[in-house]
Amino acid sequence: MGKIVKAVCECGNWNEDDLKPAEIRSDWENTSSGWKVIHVLMCIPTGAFWVGVILAKMFIIEKKLVCLHCETWLKMESIR
Ligand SMILES: [Zn+2]
Repeated sequence: MGKIVKAVCECGNWNEDDLKPAEIRSDWENTSSGWKVIHVLMCIPTGAFWVGVILAKMFIIEKKLVCLHCETWLKMESIR
């Protein structure tokens, strides 16, 4: 689970007084469980390369913000 923050969102009409809960997710947390299994299995034949892909998804690729109310992707600037 990512970090929960308050954000303005279109479902709250971008109203500063109507903040919605939003979650900051890494690309890895946003990868479905099926893909995670494939990623881990791919580490066996290719070794370090896929370990690198997983680490990049966990730490390097920019984290995203998703509104938990309407599931819309938001910009980081929406955090309040
Ligand atoms: Zn929303």
